[in-house]
Amino acid sequence: MSFSEQDWKHLTRLKPPALVLFDNVPGGAGHVRRVAQRLRDVAQAAWDRVARCECGAETSGYECLRNFYNQWCHDQLQRGPARDFLAALNQQEKGHKG
Ligand SMILES: [Zn+2]
Repeated sequence: MSFSEQDWKHLTRLKPPALVLFDNVPGGAGHVRRVAQRLRDVAQAAWDRVARCECGAETSGYECLRNFYNQWCHDQLQRGPARDFLAALNQQEKGHKG
């Protein structure tokens, strides 16, 4: 499965925002299952990365959100909203699990 610009447009209209895990290896490599099993650790590590990055909150860079595969939407990737979303997710996880 590949993640298209059309998929992105659909997902960004959802309220509340969706967290989507996808594996773009044909047939799947099991990464999504492993991430889902350790979502708390992954969300904390992801928050660490976007919170500590020194690029602007209204933009993004290769140290946080950008990579080769998402270059078609680099101009839309903003570190600040990702940081805030992950902070809220981590807060919710702490609430649920003590
Ligand atoms: Zn950054």
